[in-house]
Amino acid sequence: MTIQQDLLDITAAVTECKGADFKLQPLKIRQPQHDEVLVKIVATGMCHTDLIVRDQYYPVPLPAVLGHEGSGIIQAIGPDVKDLKVGDHVVLTYGYCGKCTQCNTGNPAYCSEFFGRNFGGADLEGHTALCNHQHDAVHDHFFAQSSFASLALSRENNAIKVPEDAPLELLGPLGCGIQTGAGAVINALKVTPASSFVALGAGAVGLSALLAAKICGATTIIAVDVVPSRLELAKELGATHVINSKEQDPVQAIKEITRGGVNFALESTGRPEILKQGIDALGTLGKIAVVGAPPLGTTAQFDVNDLLLGGKMIMGVVEGSGAPKKFIPELVKLYQQGLFPFDKLVKFYDFEQINQAALDSQKGITLKPIIKIQG
Ligand code: NAD
Ligand code: ZN
Repeated sequence: MTIQQDLLDITAAVTECKGADFKLQPLKIRQPQHDEVLVKIVATGMCHTDLIVRDQYYPVPLPAVLGHEGSGIIQAIGPDVKDLKVGDHVVLTYGYCGKCTQCNTGNPAYCSEFFGRNFGGADLEGHTALCNHQHDAVHDHFFAQSSFASLALSRENNAIKVPEDAPLELLGPLGCGIQTGAGAVINALKVTPASSFVALGAGAVGLSALLAAKICGATTIIAVDVVPSRLELAKELGATHVINSKEQDPVQAIKEITRGGVNFALESTGRPEILKQGIDALGTLGKIAVVGAPPLGTTAQFDVNDLLLGGKMIMGVVEGSGAPKKFIPELVKLYQQGLFPFDKLVKFYDFEQINQAALDSQKGITLKPIIKIQG
């Protein structure tokens, strides 16, 4: 289609300054250019990362439109788009260049331009696609989408086509939080049949990991958290054991359950002392994936000889380490077959309730809020 320079009216949730409530505002967005797609956002998941950026643990410039688990329908495409068309249902995931060594070897989550493309607050040249009605720029391109908005621009490579018979308003979190937990288990840890697995943190990421560990055939599945309702849900989803680390020493409990140490672990609390607990709880040749995101510059401690003599492995994992074009449709298929019931983690909110969603998420009342933007 031809590129029109006229601007479209949208409603977006703006984060004006550090820690401020999201504020719904009328903004304007430009039309798609090059390989961009303009997506009518049906719904957007809210991930802990939106909140840590709102609170400026990560220095995304403000004011900005956040939101990075969008799902919707393509409304317009740029002239270089090859494989997507108007009307396609898509899940938006993180941005990547598609050209660097990591992208070319199936590891786009480790793209050499990852930080700039996802946290830069604009495109790589510093331009935003959004402005307010006074024509002041509003930072965007958050995870190459900024989907707390009625329309969002992404690029073709981070708009993942999904089947039209899948419930589009549910699918957005597959673009980040759910893909992260499930992918860390399936793609990074490669959890094996009859093994033991522990999720340190039973939030959206930890419980997605738990569901994936079950798919991989782990037979001892442990969830650790401090919120009793999350531990209850973990049991419902297939945990064989749950540990409230306010009541029990998790390291000792995990070692007792696994008779010596767990094979695979996933740290999603973002707390260095919990990472240490996870490393301590590993058995010989055990592996721990680190996905929880503390403030930049955070360091953690562990016993070097324990790591060395036990042949233990610590791995950082971004966005589940998979290739989203392949992995997200696989997760949709597993969901449709009843093997990956991540719908049990979500609660829907109207767009006007976005601050309530954030509050409920922080209080541990809601695991994975999904904000309904437009039907
Ligand atoms: P969440 O807040 O839902 O989950 C964190 C869980 O940790 C909560 O259930 C909380 O009760 C639990 N917790 C807190 N303190 C604890 C303690 N002392 N012991 C045990 N459990 C404790 O968040 P989420 O959406 O599941 O995200 C988890 C983390 O992953 C966040 O830090 C988020 O920013 C990060 N994240 C990373 C990636 C990545 O690519 N690496 C992607 C998405 C999210
Ligand atoms: Zn996220």
